[in-house]
Amino acid sequence: MIWETVIGLETHVELSTRTKIFCACSTRFGGAPNTQCCPVCAGLPGALPVLNEGVLTYAVKAALVLGCAITRRSRFDRKNYFYPDLPRAYQISQLYCPIARDGEVTFSLPAGGHRTIRIHELHMEDDAGKLIHNPETGRTSIDYNRCGVPLIEIVTEPDFRTGEEVTAYLETLKERLQYLGVSDCRMQEGSLRCDVNLSVRPQGSTALGTRTEMKNLSSFRAILRAIAFESQRQIALIEGGGQVVQETRRWDEDQNASLPMRTKENAQDYRYFPDPDLPPIVLSDGWLARLWAEMPELAEAKRDRYRAQFGLSEADCKTLTSQRALAELFEQTAALGTPPKQAANWLLGPVLAQCSAHGLEAKDMRITPQMLARLIALVQTGGLNRSTAIEVLAALFTTGGDVDAYVSEHGLNQVCDADLVGEAVERVFAANPKSITDYWAGKEKALGFLVGQTMRALHDRASPQAVQAAVRKKLRQN
Ligand code: ADP
Ligand code: MG
Ligand code: ZN
Repeated sequence: MIWETVIGLETHVELSTRTKIFCACSTRFGGAPNTQCCPVCAGLPGALPVLNEGVLTYAVKAALVLGCAITRRSRFDRKNYFYPDLPRAYQISQLYCPIARDGEVTFSLPAGGHRTIRIHELHMEDDAGKLIHNPETGRTSIDYNRCGVPLIEIVTEPDFRTGEEVTAYLETLKERLQYLGVSDCRMQEGSLRCDVNLSVRPQGSTALGTRTEMKNLSSFRAILRAIAFESQRQIALIEGGGQVVQETRRWDEDQNASLPMRTKENAQDYRYFPDPDLPPIVLSDGWLARLWAEMPELAEAKRDRYRAQFGLSEADCKTLTSQRALAELFEQTAALGTPPKQAANWLLGPVLAQCSAHGLEAKDMRITPQMLARLIALVQTGGLNRSTAIEVLAALFTTGGDVDAYVSEHGLNQVCDADLVGEAVERVFAANPKSITDYWAGKEKALGFLVGQTMRALHDRASPQAVQAAVRKKLRQN
């Protein structure tokens, strides 16, 4: 029997608003435990939630880039359950009228081709706190700082067939949300985590098999391995005459296995009902139009445009648009008159090399379009040689600063003076008579050596082309 795997994804994304969804506490990651809470996030009786408009704005923007229909009149519902990290004993979520529904995402696959998957819905909710287990003392502490951090949950239809499709979709999702600036999507900090719903069925069958759900996967590696393991487990179970039970399972990264956690609960188990503390959200045409006007050009559109407008390669376009700050630096540098190919080469080469050397994202470096344009112009006109220009870039990378001021302060201007170059060549020739005879004996390598020595004598600050010309001229005179 040939089996087909069917996967539906629920993705939780933490929104990067400065404050929480229903109170003014900070959402900052990594604060000392329980320093970013108030009666609303701690769920004290009588504390009343007030919706943060920033959360609504971010959720609607996210829904728009996923092709969803926006619900003009949506509402919050209480999802009741007790867990120590949820002091209110209910989560504020949206079940009956989520903010958006019926989207569609098309993305390219690494092996080539495209895939479209449908979005069932997108809704807003609050995050719970964190339990910290100490294996030495056997005690568990609770940190409520994360209580009330805004989340959107994006639920797909069961449209995925492979782990590669799932990760390609997540790449696209991350990229779009990062471009919008609604989330940093840092999986390692838990700002993007997935529940994988998976079933198997005989190939050709259209009915869905019984699914299991694996909770809170927070790396691509874990997602791929969990999908591979779980589909094999289900196939082996069915082929052995057994039946898949609908249940929630936990992915154990160390054991490389999914383990049962609890049998699947239904919506009824949560006794959902509309939250009486929060009024319905009614969106006007004007408000939505304003949001549309603020939508940035997304990476995919930029890629197509760069290819057409600047003739850049597919791979270069992909890297340039992989971070919004990088793409913007590129466009602004080109707008200052730098030839786009040159700007692209500098960004893809030395600039990205600096980013990785400093472990920084493009948005955190201090290189401005003006600085980059000036550096490139100096190299083009012979004022700096390329390797010196890269040193200047490195020196100003995290501090910023004026390129010309730095160059003159450190005496880095390229030696263009023909006399200075000529003198250096004289000295090098006097010191290396053997290389000259070698050259005339047919050893081409000797030329490179003489050029290298002269560059060195000029502290690497001359144009290599000029030095090469001077050395050749001198050789002809010998
Ligand atoms: P719940 O909210 O109870 O977890 P939903 O029916 O809303 O359940 O589905 C949650 C996710 O599971 C969705 O992404 C959906 O596409 C997926 N899903 C539902 N049924 C199946 C199935 N038989 N196989 C794989 N995925 C499924
Ligand atoms: Mg679920
Ligand atoms: Zn609070």
